[in-house]
Amino acid sequence: MSNPAYKRVLLKLSGEALMGDDAYGINRATIERMVADVAEVARMGVELAIVIGGGNIFRGVAPGAQGMDRATADYMGMLATVMNSLALADAMRQVGITARVMSAISIEQVVEPYVRPKALQYLEEGKIVVFAAGTGNPFFTTDTAAALRGSEIGAEIVLKATKVDGVYTADPNKDRNAVRYSTITFDEAIAKHLQVMDATAFALCRDQKLPIKVFSIVKPGALKNVILGEDEGTLVHV
Ligand code: UDP
Repeated sequence: MSNPAYKRVLLKLSGEALMGDDAYGINRATIERMVADVAEVARMGVELAIVIGGGNIFRGVAPGAQGMDRATADYMGMLATVMNSLALADAMRQVGITARVMSAISIEQVVEPYVRPKALQYLEEGKIVVFAAGTGNPFFTTDTAAALRGSEIGAEIVLKATKVDGVYTADPNKDRNAVRYSTITFDEAIAKHLQVMDATAFALCRDQKLPIKVFSIVKPGALKNVILGEDEGTLVHV
């Protein structure tokens, strides 16, 4: 078997990726498939930290939050990511993978708080760390949490799993001639107005020279290909 291209990575999963074809919540078959992909790369010896979103349950900017105080709505969104993190860690437990959930919001009866040295220790011990509650602050997103935690733990790359298998010259769902970039620099992505991650997350990765790989969460084997350093998805680099 080929060797992994990375020793430590930060994987960002959107909450919506857990829905599968459902309209809301967590789809059992989908989370199991996702966990199988994660387990495969964890068994290759890659140190893996995961940030999961909450969009399948609640978003601070969703229509359901209209009229709400934005900060309150965002805290609800962060709590949604805690639920997803618990579901993900439990699904991993069921296949024999040890995961630890660490929350940016203090909720100690449920999950342990995020403490950076402890997270680093878990990673060194080969446990998967799931960072819950985003950055712990309203007005941010879990993309930014991924960039932040990725920087903090010294991840070599942020792997952003999306429904599309990379960054395209145009929206591939609308334009048949759209072409996927295999690699692109941060500056090119800005100049071409390409949406890779939200602007705050993108700026942080760029400042920290932390590359981003955008790849498909629905394509079988894509995560493994990314870990093996193959031409899968789009690499955004300095
Ligand atoms: N959120 C927040 N601060 C953070 C991360 C998330 O306030 O640091 C809230 C925000 O309301 C967001 C929701 O949690 O809409 C869910 O996160 P996100 O939209 O990033 O999830 P995804 O789109 O990845 O499922």
